[in-house]
Amino acid sequence: MRATASNARIKWMGGIFRMDADKENSKERFHIGIDLGGTKIEGIVLDHQYRECRRIRMETRASDGYLPVLQRIIEMHSQLAAVVLGEEATLGICTPGSISKTTGLLKNCNATELNGHPLQADLRQRLGRPFAMENDANCFAMAEALQGAGSGHGCVLGLVLGTGVGAGIVVDGRVWSGRHGIAGEWGHMSIDPGGPACYCGRQGCVERYLSGTALEASYRQSTGQSADVARVVEMARHGDGAAVELLDRFLSQFAGAVANVVAVLDPDVIVIGGGLASMDELYEEGALRLQRMVFNDDFHTPVLRNRLGNSAGVIGAAMVGV
Ligand SMILES: [Zn+2]
Repeated sequence: MRATASNARIKWMGGIFRMDADKENSKERFHIGIDLGGTKIEGIVLDHQYRECRRIRMETRASDGYLPVLQRIIEMHSQLAAVVLGEEATLGICTPGSISKTTGLLKNCNATELNGHPLQADLRQRLGRPFAMENDANCFAMAEALQGAGSGHGCVLGLVLGTGVGAGIVVDGRVWSGRHGIAGEWGHMSIDPGGPACYCGRQGCVERYLSGTALEASYRQSTGQSADVARVVEMARHGDGAAVELLDRFLSQFAGAVANVVAVLDPDVIVIGGGLASMDELYEEGALRLQRMVFNDDFHTPVLRNRLGNSAGVIGAAMVGV
C-alpha cells in the first residue's frame, strides 16, 4: 500500500480548505522511477504532476552477473538524482521478478542471473535512502490506472500477456499487494490440474496457455512448424486451419481465466499489456466470450488495450515510489 496523489482528501482545517499530507507533499516532490528489465534498465524523472522531465536508458547486460547489474542500477540512480539535485524526490524500482518476503531474495526474474540475490537489501545499503520495490505487473497496473487506459476507474485489473503472464491490481490509486505480496499472481492460477507442468511446480497454470511462449509452443506441437504469435494470428485471420483452431482455443481460455478473476475482484476496468496486447481479437471475440462466462446477467466491464506501452514499467515505478 503506497500513498499517491490520487489518494488525497480535502480537509477543513482552521478556516481554509486544504489538501491532506499526501497531496501536499506530492506538490513539491519529483518522482524517480527505475525499471530493471531483462535487456535494459530504464530510468525516469517525473514532476509533481507526473510529467516527464528526463529519461535515461542503459543495457542491463545481465550475463555480466549480479554485481555489475547492481552497479548499473546505482549509476542510473545517481544520474537521475542529479537531475533533481536539491529537490525532494520519491524513488520506486520495478523488477521483473519479486522479492520473497521470507528470504528477501529476488525470485522468478526472467534475467535468471539476478535470482537468489538480496537486491533490495543491497540497494538499501548502497543508496542510503528509502525506496519502494514492486514487480513489473504491479507497476504496469499502477501506471495504466493513473495515467493510461484505466485512468478514472476505481478498481483496475492490469493483465500482462507476454513471454510470461502476470497481473496487477490497483484499487483507488494504490497497488493491492496482499498479505504475502502475491496478489495478482494470476499466471500461476491452475485452470487444468491435468494440464502441462509449470516451472512453479503446479500443472495447467494460466501462463502455460495464455503466454506468447505457450501459443507458439502449441502451434509447433500441432503443425511441426515454428511461427511467432503475430504470424499465428495473421494465419488465423486468413483461415489457416491449425491457426484458427489455436486462436479459438486461446480466446476461450483467455475468457475462462479472466472470468475466474472477475468472480473474485469484479474490477471496474481490465487493461491488457505485454506483447500479446496488440492482438485485436482479445478486445472483440475475447471480451465477448468473457461477457458470456461471467456469472451475472449483465457484464459491461471494459477490456482495453494499454495506452502507455513499454513505458508503463518505468512510469509505474515512479508512481509507487516513496
Ligand atoms: Zn505455474
